[in-house]
Amino acid sequence: MASQIDHFIGGRRLAGRSGRSAPVFNPATGEQTGAVALADGSEVDAAVTAAAAAFPAWARTPPLRRARILNKFLQIIEDRIDSLAAVITAEHGKVLSDAKGEIQRGMEVIEFAVGAPQLLKGEVTENVGTRVDSHALRQPLGVVAGITPFNFPVMVPMWMFPVALACGNCFVLKPSERDPSASLLLAEWLKEAGLPDGVFNVVHGDKEAVDALLHHPKVAGVSFVGSTPIARYIYATATANGKRAQALGGAKNHMIIMPDADMDQAVDALMGAAYGSAGERCMAVSVAVPVGEKTANTLVERLIPKVRALKVGPGTDRDSEMGPLVTRQHLDKVRGYIAQGVSEGAKLLVDGRDLKLQGYETGFFIGGTLFDHVTPEMTIYKEEIFGPVLAVTRAPDYATAARLINEHEFGNGTAIFTRDGDAAREFAHEIQVGMVGINVPIPVPMAFHSFGGWKASLFGDHHMHGPEGVRFYTRLKAITTRWPTGIRAGADFVMPTME
Ligand code: NAD
Repeated sequence: MASQIDHFIGGRRLAGRSGRSAPVFNPATGEQTGAVALADGSEVDAAVTAAAAAFPAWARTPPLRRARILNKFLQIIEDRIDSLAAVITAEHGKVLSDAKGEIQRGMEVIEFAVGAPQLLKGEVTENVGTRVDSHALRQPLGVVAGITPFNFPVMVPMWMFPVALACGNCFVLKPSERDPSASLLLAEWLKEAGLPDGVFNVVHGDKEAVDALLHHPKVAGVSFVGSTPIARYIYATATANGKRAQALGGAKNHMIIMPDADMDQAVDALMGAAYGSAGERCMAVSVAVPVGEKTANTLVERLIPKVRALKVGPGTDRDSEMGPLVTRQHLDKVRGYIAQGVSEGAKLLVDGRDLKLQGYETGFFIGGTLFDHVTPEMTIYKEEIFGPVLAVTRAPDYATAARLINEHEFGNGTAIFTRDGDAAREFAHEIQVGMVGINVPIPVPMAFHSFGGWKASLFGDHHMHGPEGVRFYTRLKAITTRWPTGIRAGADFVMPTME
């Protein structure tokens, strides 16, 4: 029996009324386990209206009290991390340890947001003019929306809402319709932690719900994470409607392996970064760029047996290193890319399409796949595959390797493996990418720094969480004050110069 997955509006679960729903699957078995309601415009309006009604009181609540509620929420998640991870694995497919890892990274953003009283401190200048003082403070935007992808059903919403709520905003989350259940647990646990009704709402849906949010006059800001075409659309539509927007898109992350790199470390790093979570990470490394033929040959020789030995299985099996892909449609897409790589002339060294898993024949599994001699003209080089497919693109020297990265459409993450401090420094300085790793394959910034890419990987001015998150979810107000003894008689008709 497929369970019904409801919205969460104004502090309670509400069954969908639109008459539309979408199937939710267990990717390990291929079975449909749920049907998620798809909101229409009136249901989105109900969520935004509930958030707008809750806003004045929440914005007036002292930041310290808002932080205490988030602190309780943090404690609840910590106590129930296993059940939350199980919900993620059941709908996304990733291995349980990885599901716990994403929750942990999300919790770190809550830990950052709990510092709200400190984060929201403003600026004061005494005597900007004689007996005139100025102060600047940050106030919440109002109702803000978060539209999130399937690949991190807990962590990505938590990049957004802890900071938004700590700053005094009310939030409407539109999670991915492919793994929607975790967001309902988060909503219920926030309520249990003491969050007033309406401050956090969840509406499930597809383009119809997203469009309703983008056009709703009471939505002041939109945070989005997902694929680049949709990110571009979200940014253009939200800003055209006068909203503040940040829209994070897709990626094609390269890792350069210099001839002097520690090869064992580089190979281990690549294995985790390319095949972890079946490659369904925006910071996954999907292109390895060894510099020099000798480096390339050694790298490929060492990778082949490891890719073949990857333990693929259901996410609930402790021995699995890699789970299934999220849906059959996505599996077909990844298989299609592999076929295209072959037809375009790349050398297929390990073919994940051969994988057979006894007992899970109807699951959405694919094995690790490795291509060599991938060139920049090929589709599998240009496009984001979002699966366990690693391309090796050989470069004769460092300058060619760096140019490949700088000329690529995406600029989310990148890494270099080297023992040469000068090369590493040059790389960090010149590379046109938002997040850079030096001997670190997946350079995801911690919660108290900010996360975001460049080029087609981010539309907008602000990265997420950390100081950039606080800036995104607040607007600046500057107040200039003069008390009666400082006021001279008569009207001033010239520009005040604050003598
Ligand atoms: P997606 O773009 O298909 O969906 C993201 C969200 O947009 C979902 O909530 C979905 O319901 C909604 N959506 C889908 N089609 C829409 C449309 N036509 N109009 C309006 N809304 C629409 O992305 P996905 O497949 O869920 O996630 C994978 C993608 O997300 C990858 O490209 C990955 O790189 C990217 N991602 C990026 C980051 C980052 O930080 N840059 C992080 C995680 C994932």
